[in-house]
Amino acid sequence: MFDYQSHFQSAVDALRAERRYRVFADLERRVGSFPRAVHRSEGAERDIVIWCSNDYLGMGQHPKVVAAMQEAAGRMGAGAGGTRNISGTNHPLVQLERELADLHRKQGALVFTSGFVSNEASISTISRLLPDCLILSDQLNHASMIEGVRRSGSQKQIWRHNDVEHLEDLLKAAGRERAKLIVFESVYSMDGDVAPIEQIVDLAERYGAMTYIDEVHAVGMYGPRGAGIAERDGLMDRIDVIEGTLAKAFGVLGGYITGTNAVVDAVRSYAPGFIFTTALPPGLAAAACASIRHLKRSGVERAAQQRQAQRTKERMIDAGLPVMPSETHIVPVLVGDPESCKAASDHLLDRHGIYIQPINYPTVPRGTERLRVTPTPFHSDQLIDQLVDAMVETWEHVGLPLTGPTTVELVSRRAEIFAASGG
Ligand code: PLP
Repeated sequence: MFDYQSHFQSAVDALRAERRYRVFADLERRVGSFPRAVHRSEGAERDIVIWCSNDYLGMGQHPKVVAAMQEAAGRMGAGAGGTRNISGTNHPLVQLERELADLHRKQGALVFTSGFVSNEASISTISRLLPDCLILSDQLNHASMIEGVRRSGSQKQIWRHNDVEHLEDLLKAAGRERAKLIVFESVYSMDGDVAPIEQIVDLAERYGAMTYIDEVHAVGMYGPRGAGIAERDGLMDRIDVIEGTLAKAFGVLGGYITGTNAVVDAVRSYAPGFIFTTALPPGLAAAACASIRHLKRSGVERAAQQRQAQRTKERMIDAGLPVMPSETHIVPVLVGDPESCKAASDHLLDRHGIYIQPINYPTVPRGTERLRVTPTPFHSDQLIDQLVDAMVETWEHVGLPLTGPTTVELVSRRAEIFAASGG
């Protein structure tokens, strides 16, 4: 008989052999003391500092956000009770979609259970509805976008990361008459670089392509009302679909798209990932709404976060740590192999009580394994100094070189990886 269990076991063993087996940290964040948390391991409990959270602004513990969740759950219950179509469309969710449409100055918005699902469902549905659609996808797009492209069944072409000349060559070859969907991110979350959005929308307009931007790592973080990089750069009205998450800077859970009524209604009506699943509960929707409303009016959190991120980068560079050339709030520090990356992460936690999850393949290309540091407004100057000292000690302990910033090396590695993957 077929030995099912041993097949699963050997699949997992293969990951262990490549040092890609994932171990989750058992954490308990405490309202009022984030980024401090309790870490539980092998029966022991210990206070640690989290340095890799995507709750970039600490909104997950904001009093208005927590109160909104508690109030809505107390009044309307814990769950939504159904799919959107069958009794699950609760009023806070309707208000949330209005808030999101307003945030991005679009006609409509549609909320999904996660940012992953929003990309997978929307990209596949939009391109399936367009006859003979060609999808042009940035080389470093997130797994959720790649899944959306795959599921669409449409022809796809990958353009070299942020290379608008390459994108133009592909657009030109496809011709102006063919339906084309350009999918890309604003902030690339593992490197912290930013897409040349204006040049991309210029090309889209010139060659008659639709644009779909993932602003998952930028919403709440950039622009006067926290709508993202496209808002900051005055480009929101030139992008067809803006996608985001409620789970990172907004501190809650869920994903969304915004666009014209026609696009939003089409995805609402045709996307299985939207239709055949239970709606977001009222407590989550109310909390997300409170967070968005707060960040529309308050820039205090954004300014404090940018300051702490900048300070972290400067301190690390002064100490000789190999900080990658991020233009944003993300601070990636290159390690370059999975074994050392895991060893550095383990040592930081065991010796210093600092938690930074190692980032390995396939999240990043092999050879670019890294520690991805995400300072928040709640990481004080003192915590930053402690982090830098701990990282320097860790680098020495693991035997990693203190080489300073890594621009040239990274660019050449990217070119190699692109060539190796068949361009
Ligand atoms: N898009 C990008 C670029 C991401 O990095 C992520 C998650 O890390 C997602 C989408 C998925 O968002 P969510 O965590 O809300 O599922």
